[in-house]
Amino acid sequence: MEPQRSPLLEVRGNIQLKRPPVKAPSRLPLPGTRFKRGPDQMEDALEPEKKRTRGLDTVTKIATSRPRAPALTTVAQTQGQTTAPKVPKKTGPRCSTAVATVLKNQKPGPAAPAQKPGAAAPVPGGRKPTKRPAWDLKGQLCDLNAELKCCRERTQTLDQENQQLQDQLREAQQQAKSLGAECRTLEGELARVQAQAEQGQQELGNLRARVLELEEQLGTQQGLVQELQKEQLGLQEERRGLAARLEEQERRLQASEAALSGSQAEVASLRQEATTQAALLVEQGERLHGLEMERRRLHNQLQELKGNIRVFCRVRPVLPGEPTPPPGFLLFPSGPGGPSDPPTRLSLSRSDERRGTLSGAPAPPTRHDFSFDRVFPPGSGQDEVFEEIAMLVQSALDGYPVCIFAYGQTGSGKTFTMEGGGPGGDPQVEGLIPRALRHLFSVAQELGSQGWTYSFVASYVEIYNETVRDLLATGTRKGQGGECEIRRAGPGSEELTVTNARYVPVSCEKEVEALLHLAHQNRAVARTAQNERSSRSHSVFQLQISGEHAGRGLQCGAPLSLVDLAGSERLDPGLTLGPGERERLRETQAINSSLSTLGLVIMALSNKESHVPYRNSKLTYLLQNSLGGSAKMLMFVNISPLEENVSESLNSLRFASKVNQCVIGTAQANRK
Ligand code: ADP
Ligand code: MG
Repeated sequence: MEPQRSPLLEVRGNIQLKRPPVKAPSRLPLPGTRFKRGPDQMEDALEPEKKRTRGLDTVTKIATSRPRAPALTTVAQTQGQTTAPKVPKKTGPRCSTAVATVLKNQKPGPAAPAQKPGAAAPVPGGRKPTKRPAWDLKGQLCDLNAELKCCRERTQTLDQENQQLQDQLREAQQQAKSLGAECRTLEGELARVQAQAEQGQQELGNLRARVLELEEQLGTQQGLVQELQKEQLGLQEERRGLAARLEEQERRLQASEAALSGSQAEVASLRQEATTQAALLVEQGERLHGLEMERRRLHNQLQELKGNIRVFCRVRPVLPGEPTPPPGFLLFPSGPGGPSDPPTRLSLSRSDERRGTLSGAPAPPTRHDFSFDRVFPPGSGQDEVFEEIAMLVQSALDGYPVCIFAYGQTGSGKTFTMEGGGPGGDPQVEGLIPRALRHLFSVAQELGSQGWTYSFVASYVEIYNETVRDLLATGTRKGQGGECEIRRAGPGSEELTVTNARYVPVSCEKEVEALLHLAHQNRAVARTAQNERSSRSHSVFQLQISGEHAGRGLQCGAPLSLVDLAGSERLDPGLTLGPGERERLRETQAINSSLSTLGLVIMALSNKESHVPYRNSKLTYLLQNSLGGSAKMLMFVNISPLEENVSESLNSLRFASKVNQCVIGTAQANRK
């Protein structure tokens, strides 16, 4: 490429060289055309030639004063000097003359060389040009011919030069064309490169954005990495801690394992011991059962020795507001064992105003002494009383029917003894019923460890005027006193049951409490209908006890009856009988009848009579299975401490004494 460039530059330099200020080159005679002119045409041709020489100016001078060949190489060097005309250093003699002649006819131009006007043109051959006289036409012609010749030579030279220049121009044009093509190729390439560059820019932009994004991500990742490193440090710390703990645990484990192997040996020996113990236990169980049966036998023997009918006398305390009895009215003499012995005797003194002495002075009071199995003075507590009957109650678990009565006039403390000071009250004043049941439940639980299982079913009825009423009635029957009947449980069965009465299974104190509360409510409702009916009726609480020893196939069952009898007081014979009193009389007669039947039944049993009049009263009929035979009976005779009740107290004590004298045959446990 490089060698081609220089000619172009040279051509451009030449072209610039020939550019106007003067338009002479376009007027140059074309080669070929001039040579066709004949010498005659010279004159004509001279004129335009002259005209043309005006414009030739510098070109002519350059063309003549410089050799053509080096012009191509030197033009570039002298480019800036073309505008300044130079004086030719050396010109040929003829040519310079001709030029000088031509110039003589020219007006001096602004760009004319600094040549003094009027200065003679150089003469060829070194001679000074001489002015021919006007007449020397021949000479002049000769000059002109010389000049023409010179011009022709010059023209020839110029043609050659022109030819050269045109060749150069063609060459340059060709070069220009190829360069143009090259230029277009390059431009295309440039456009492509620019497009590429743009694309590159765009890509660069994208890449920069991506770089920014990645940098941002990198920042986040670095933050994360830092966090993770921190976490890792924490975890390493934790791991060290855990490793230390693990070591510690392993140490402990080893110690534990050592201890365990020791323990295992111990366990093995303990197991062996346990097997031995189990065998021993079985043996002990056998022995225990034998002992339990022996206990029951001895317990029963003891109860029999105490008597199958026992009578306890209980004197209630004087209540607030009641008159204090005279001193010595009631006495509790000590037994043969002295004051440490539990009292069994009671002495009641009665002054009879109707009896008088002969002197008219009041007769001394009569003393009435009674002796019972046990006497409880007014200060005796409920627990003290229960303690005395606990063993008897326990007989029911062994299969002996047990019946406990409370006998006495109204207000003597029968209900207090049986039920206590009222439901939900002070546990200290709890009566025999709740205490007996609690005792039974706890003993049954103890016997459970020996293989016995017990169940208890409670019923509570009252007998008023020879009608039986359920005290555990609920709902619509509550307090209504729906009639109940006493029937045998089944054909040929000895067991008695009350129709329409509720038999409630009980297993804990709370349930018994609830039943007593219900009975209390039922009585209260009845009380509004008939005044103080509760004291005019017998209340019979019965508990059916069933025990079973599944392992030995043993069963036992017996009823425990706790009876709060109706007031035993007699009706005053001197009382005038109004309609209320007549009703009262009927009640009293019914009560007295049932109470005397009870006495008669006990007597008949005691006398071992063939007929026992159980059926003479509902009370004895209901208690048939709890009286006589294998049954154990206890009667509380409740006494008022008041002097005004002395008569009723004596009646009660006499009745009780009679009962106390009875001995009912050997009790038999109801074993199956
Ligand atoms: P009853 O049932 O024989 O008619 P209660 O049991 O209703 O007689 O007793 C009459 C009153 O005497 C009641 O207020 C009762 O609280 C009270 N009472 C009875 N016995 C005692 C006693 N041992 N200690 C304290 N108060 C008693
Ligand atoms: Mg009562």
